[in-house]
Amino acid sequence: MLKTDVLIIGGGLAGLSAARALEGKKDYIIAERENRPGGLAATVKKGGFHFDYSGHLLHLRWPDTSKFILEALKGNCARIERDARIYAHKSWTPYPFQANLSGMPSKVKAECVSGFLKAYNAGAVPPPGPEVFSRWTRRVFGDGISDHFMLPYNAKLWQYPLERLTTEWCAPFVPMPKPEDVIKGAYGGRNEGMGYNTVFNYPKSGGIGALANSLAMKSRGLRLGLEVESVNLKKGVAEVRHFGPVHFRRLINTAPLNDFIAMTSDSPAAVKRAAAKLRHNTVYVLNLGVKGVKTDMHWGYFPEAGFPFYRAGVASNFSDSLTPRGCASFYIEIATPGDVLDLASAETVVLRGLKACGLIKSAGQIVEKLWLKIPCAYVVYNRDRAQALPVISAWLKTKKAQSIGRYGAWKYSFMEESVKEGLEAAAKISSGW
Ligand SMILES: Cc1cc2nc3c(=O)[nH]c(=O)nc-3n(C[C@H](O)[C@H](O)[C@H](O)COP(=O)(O)OP(=O)(O)OC[C@H]3O[C@@H](n4cnc5c(N)ncnc54)[C@H](O)[C@@H]3O)c2cc1C
Repeated sequence: MLKTDVLIIGGGLAGLSAARALEGKKDYIIAERENRPGGLAATVKKGGFHFDYSGHLLHLRWPDTSKFILEALKGNCARIERDARIYAHKSWTPYPFQANLSGMPSKVKAECVSGFLKAYNAGAVPPPGPEVFSRWTRRVFGDGISDHFMLPYNAKLWQYPLERLTTEWCAPFVPMPKPEDVIKGAYGGRNEGMGYNTVFNYPKSGGIGALANSLAMKSRGLRLGLEVESVNLKKGVAEVRHFGPVHFRRLINTAPLNDFIAMTSDSPAAVKRAAAKLRHNTVYVLNLGVKGVKTDMHWGYFPEAGFPFYRAGVASNFSDSLTPRGCASFYIEIATPGDVLDLASAETVVLRGLKACGLIKSAGQIVEKLWLKIPCAYVVYNRDRAQALPVISAWLKTKKAQSIGRYGAWKYSFMEESVKEGLEAAAKISSGW
């Protein structure tokens, strides 16, 4: 029978960071079901290309986690100024749409600016409690910006009714320009520096997986290919597929919260019911190796229904080490509510879209492709989530178990936040909690 002080479920960035902080202090095991570390922050090699699970860029905001990440990368990191755009009405305009309408046709600009000013002047007071996205965007940005970008883009991304999607996630992700910014961005100069990722970091070589690989190399307790199938927190025992029971004193979970609660054998019915209500979308990423591409863009957003993808990025513009010489690489993201995507027909429509926006001229430019699936990609913010999380975390607290990371904590967060939560969870355990 295997015994450990700490069992960590998942060897993504949250689990690996927790492990790094426990090293030499507590005995631990990371059970990672895949045969490689990194979770979503892994890189897959194919035909001379390095493909990530869509664009994975490091946004470093906090001193301790920045230091931890940069030390792990040991100089293998570049700082890059963002070039993000939006493609709509057969034109490109710089991101963010609401503050940079310059590329849009005159009629669209006029609708967006006048709608924004009307909404701004109405100064509507937000209702108490979480507001729904569809109402919020019209109240804050007005009808033009909502109809031309906010509503169609977010409908495509979330795959969930925007009249039920709540807005707790918006603050760091949706830039909020002032009237003078909107007018300047439409008729004057470009508004630079808006949004959370104006400058980002990315490994010079090896793709984003270089970070997880570096952490994994020093993790003595990492066990790949171990899938946790059930957990009893009261007894402190987990059943691992093809392996048997693992006894633990403390548990850190980084697997999706709904799956984790479903595998607990001692959770009360109310906790199971709460977890069963959590919703998420699924994202399919089509990675393409391409020749003959000329663009400096890092990524573009596609709000219009004629394009099946909500975002397309040029990964080789983050690092030219991702592709063989003379080639570029794209990542194209398509969201579904969880349905299986017909890859062959999706590919046909994607290529049509890439030609329509000018990223490629012909399908003959494609030299490599790899579909990657992210079954649980964006967790849905709705009233059920707001009600479920306190019920689940209250129970986990009584068992001294921690559920962290983007999916363990069930939130819209970033790699740096997963690292931070990993370090904090380990510190809590090391301090005797
Ligand atoms: C489309 C998309 C784009 C993104 N872009 C960015 C970006 O540009 N910048 C950024 O900072 N962040 C980005 N993110 C977020 C980033 O991917 C996450 O914040 C981060 O990688 C999450 O790390 P984690 O360790 O919390 O979870 P994960 O990476 O999901 O790791 C959890 C691990 O648990 C394992 N696991 C699950 N169940 C079990 C089980 N039963 N037994 C054993 N192991 C199990 C999984 O295999 C996985 O390895 C993006 C996310 C998505 C979906």
